Amino acid sequence: MNKHFQFPLKQGIGASAVPSVVNGDDVVRGQLIAYQEKDKLGTPIYSSISGKVTKVTDIEIEIEADKDQKKEFIPLKEADPLELIKQSGLVGLGGAGFPVYAKLAKPFSNAGTVIVNAAECEPILSHNIDSIEKRPKDVIRGLEIEMEVTNAAEGVIAIKKKHTAAVAILKKTLEERQGGKPIRIHLLKDMYPMGEERAIVREVLGQLLPVTSLPLEAGAIVSNVETVIRVHEAVDLKKPLIDKDLTIAGKLKGNENLIQIFHDLPIGMSVADAFAMAGGLADSYGELIMGGPFTGKRTELSSPIIKTTGGLIAAECFPKGPEKIGLLVCACGADEARMRQIAESMGSEVVGVQFCKQAAEVKGTRKCENPGKCPGQAAKVLALRKAGAQALLIGNCTDCSNTVMSCAPQLGLPVYHSTDCALRAVNHRLVRRIHEHID
Ligand code: SF4
Repeated sequence: MNKHFQFPLKQGIGASAVPSVVNGDDVVRGQLIAYQEKDKLGTPIYSSISGKVTKVTDIEIEIEADKDQKKEFIPLKEADPLELIKQSGLVGLGGAGFPVYAKLAKPFSNAGTVIVNAAECEPILSHNIDSIEKRPKDVIRGLEIEMEVTNAAEGVIAIKKKHTAAVAILKKTLEERQGGKPIRIHLLKDMYPMGEERAIVREVLGQLLPVTSLPLEAGAIVSNVETVIRVHEAVDLKKPLIDKDLTIAGKLKGNENLIQIFHDLPIGMSVADAFAMAGGLADSYGELIMGGPFTGKRTELSSPIIKTTGGLIAAECFPKGPEKIGLLVCACGADEARMRQIAESMGSEVVGVQFCKQAAEVKGTRKCENPGKCPGQAAKVLALRKAGAQALLIGNCTDCSNTVMSCAPQLGLPVYHSTDCALRAVNHRLVRRIHEHID
């Protein structure tokens, strides 16, 4: 192996962890390498590999991996379930990276629902559904632990109806389950952004929360599939968060197996090594994306896989865009900076920026007032044409993209979507007008 692994000291929401190793230290898999300061929100970091520490800075720790690696790890210290979850360094693995112990720390008084977010909302990403099919008992066990810790009255697994095999496996596993608090399955429509936390709460509990509210205000806690599996591992196996499930996709060598799933890749592995595991990159590609097509960010071969990494995509080369382009930004997709980056890669000058009417600004970021339900886009499209746009680059949800497509082409404005190059790389249908019924 003898590869270098990088462990950024900040891998989620909260303060950076503080190194507990120095240059030259020998470490083993599962060893604490950076601790979380008392009374600060954040999580500790453990080494996913055995090796020698080669660099410690304020930003990251670098470790040169030993040639031979074992799956075994140093177990967490015996403690109650919430303390084990805290010790494990677990953050929400759906992308947000909020420390899980903090989310579970305020128990419900006599009701409350823990919802497993199995929407796997981003196209291409598929490792969570694969985990459900392969480890349904671990998903349910993780959910049970979260219900126990929070004193919730019921559990719900929210999953898109189209995942028929995973739904059938979950149903069978739940039928075989003996005793315990009730757990049910809630079927979701196949729309983006069905996996947005407040969209899940709206669909499952029938309550639309304001943009400033957390699911807790509707009596709910939402955890993604891998998060509940890692909760089970922390509590039942005393395993720290050292491995990550990942979908690796796109312009890979051989043009076969365009979407590949990897379970338990060691955190800290470089993007280059991860793509090598998937057979290597094709000779030409446009950009490398860390995350899904909608919310992912451009990354580099030397970057590491971190706790919140869910996908790596080698996208198709950028098309040549028009001279002047207008941006229509969504709260649940690419942000303005990312849209500008894509426009620049297309060789286009941005002449106007509009935000979806429902993309409300909250503490410097944007949140959708009613995720996935289009408020109308005609006025935004007209404003961009007035600003001199010869075409539009949009990042909208499924419903809003549909609306844009019902007016922009009639005004002579071609439409590009921020997800196009990622989706083209795996021959996935583009986000445009959707004619068929979605369920
Ligand atoms: S309604 Fe607007 S802000 Fe909300 S998801 Fe759709 S495009 Fe994004």
